[in-house]
Amino acid sequence: MFGDYHVHCYLSRHGIGEIEEYVESAIFKGLKRIGFSEHIPIPGLDDPTGRMPIEDFDTYINDVEKARQRYKGDIEVLFGLEADFLPAFQDSIQRFIQQYSFDYVIGSVHFIGDWDFSNPAYKDEFVKRGVDQVFTAYYQLVAQAAESGCYDVIGHLDLLTRYGYKPSYDLNPTLTLLLDKIATSGCALDVNSSGMRRRRGVIYPHPAILAKARCRDIPVVLGSDAHRPEDVAAGFNRAMQLLVDAGYSQSCYFRQRSINYEPLMARIAPKAR
Ligand code: ZN
Ligand code: FE
Ligand code: FE
Ligand code: ZN
Repeated sequence: MFGDYHVHCYLSRHGIGEIEEYVESAIFKGLKRIGFSEHIPIPGLDDPTGRMPIEDFDTYINDVEKARQRYKGDIEVLFGLEADFLPAFQDSIQRFIQQYSFDYVIGSVHFIGDWDFSNPAYKDEFVKRGVDQVFTAYYQLVAQAAESGCYDVIGHLDLLTRYGYKPSYDLNPTLTLLLDKIATSGCALDVNSSGMRRRRGVIYPHPAILAKARCRDIPVVLGSDAHRPEDVAAGFNRAMQLLVDAGYSQSCYFRQRSINYEPLMARIAPKAR
């Protein structure tokens, strides 16, 4: 059996539900593990709806630890983090990561310069900045994130495709180079099913990228990017099928920043209650 390793909660300030509600949802869906990956607080880049404030970080640690103890025997609870890759803040991000004993850290590119492209409110910037330039800049940032050595997992690679923009040039050489760099870095890929809910049937990264990743033996981690308890493991049957189609037979997770593998064949079978 498998787990869900990309999960947020009310502490994100744009999600709902307590840690324990997510754990119970995971148990109900028959998961063996759940990993929390709350957005990193970044002093100097506070965002009242985008990330938890630093003052809440102890609550996050304590709530995950309490859930770990309380549900021992039913499910394993892992303590993770989704940290942005932001060159201008990278020193403090790295220091923050080293300060705590995370099971794993997901590195996500949400920003190009000071533009949060992941926020639909600012999607007009794609055209203002030029779609081709935006794509080039994005994949460069992802490569830098992988090579930074700060992260175990690359978050939702491909997220910038969410608005349907496409570059005018052939992306294949860029993607080949990027995946070579990710393979060398040792990072795994977050296989993120949030697009199944927000954009019908879409997974990040695109299956064509997963096939390239498989050829390079890049490990994959399943994540729903749930921001509501009922979204734990949502879309995973489809995500697992796409991974099998790409040639994968196992996915992975991290405990104390070491990689472990689990078989992919299982399907979600909610417990009767
Ligand atoms: Zn979030
Ligand atoms: Fe993200
Ligand atoms: Fe997330
Ligand atoms: Zn995410």
